[in-house]
Amino acid sequence: MIQIESITKRYADGTVAVDDLSLEIPDSSITVLVGPSGCGKTTTLRMINRMVEPSSGRILLDGQDIHQQPVNALRRSMGYVIQNAGLFPHRTILANIATVPRMLGWDKVRARKRASELMERVGLDSSLAKRYPYQLSGGQQQRVGVARALAADPPVLLMDEPFSAVDPIVRKVLQGELLRIQEELGKTIVFVTHDIDEAIRLGDTIAVLRTGGKLAQFAAPDDLLSH
Ligand code: ADP
Ligand code: ADP
Repeated sequence: MIQIESITKRYADGTVAVDDLSLEIPDSSITVLVGPSGCGKTTTLRMINRMVEPSSGRILLDGQDIHQQPVNALRRSMGYVIQNAGLFPHRTILANIATVPRMLGWDKVRARKRASELMERVGLDSSLAKRYPYQLSGGQQQRVGVARALAADPPVLLMDEPFSAVDPIVRKVLQGELLRIQEELGKTIVFVTHDIDEAIRLGDTIAVLRTGGKLAQFAAPDDLLSH
């Protein structure tokens, strides 16, 4: 479980991006942070893996303050997927996915085998292994991004608008596949989107943020709809 306790983030220029936010993110389910552009979703996500430091408050992972554990260990336990996949342009698809296991010290053969398995899991044909990111469609690149985030088998997956840049039909396919992956692997997923329909489709729990970085609602999709 990830416990966010009274987190506030005030950037250097005085902008309050997140204002006294508290949330409990349960294991093995999808929690969606939804709200208009600028309401602090990305900032919140980045505080969970310490890419952004909170101004006050604390975050616990399985009961332990994340600031009391080595940042590298924390990041290894959290896969991260962003909107435009953020792939390494000069590495093949297989090498992109194998990067994380290689960094963890796996030998080349094992890392590549793991990468091949992940390609299959996210629905990428093995014929794409030797291609480069620019040779893939946006939807395929996002699949690579998801595969790479899963490569070290982290218990937590942080996803920042991963499907927002792909066309609506492909987005639906990718959403369905994320639900399937989540069901198979039981990851704890924190998913950021500005799209309420996407939030309702994917979320076991939905945190609605409003401008100014305050929590407006925290509920299961059905309860949200009844408001
Ligand atoms: P969202 O992901 O919901 O669009 P963000 O977390 O990106 O929101 O941003 C929340 C607010 O903080 C916005 O007003 C944004 O302009 C501001 N912000 C984000 N990053 C910075 C930064 N590095 N410095 C100053 N303000 C920032
Ligand atoms: P894209 O190439 O558009 O980025 P992908 O290669 O990730 O998408 O394909 C995702 C799945 O959605 C594939 O099975 C593909 O055939 C299907 N798909 C993509 N675009 C469309 C479309 N416009 N209509 C129906 N199915 C589509």
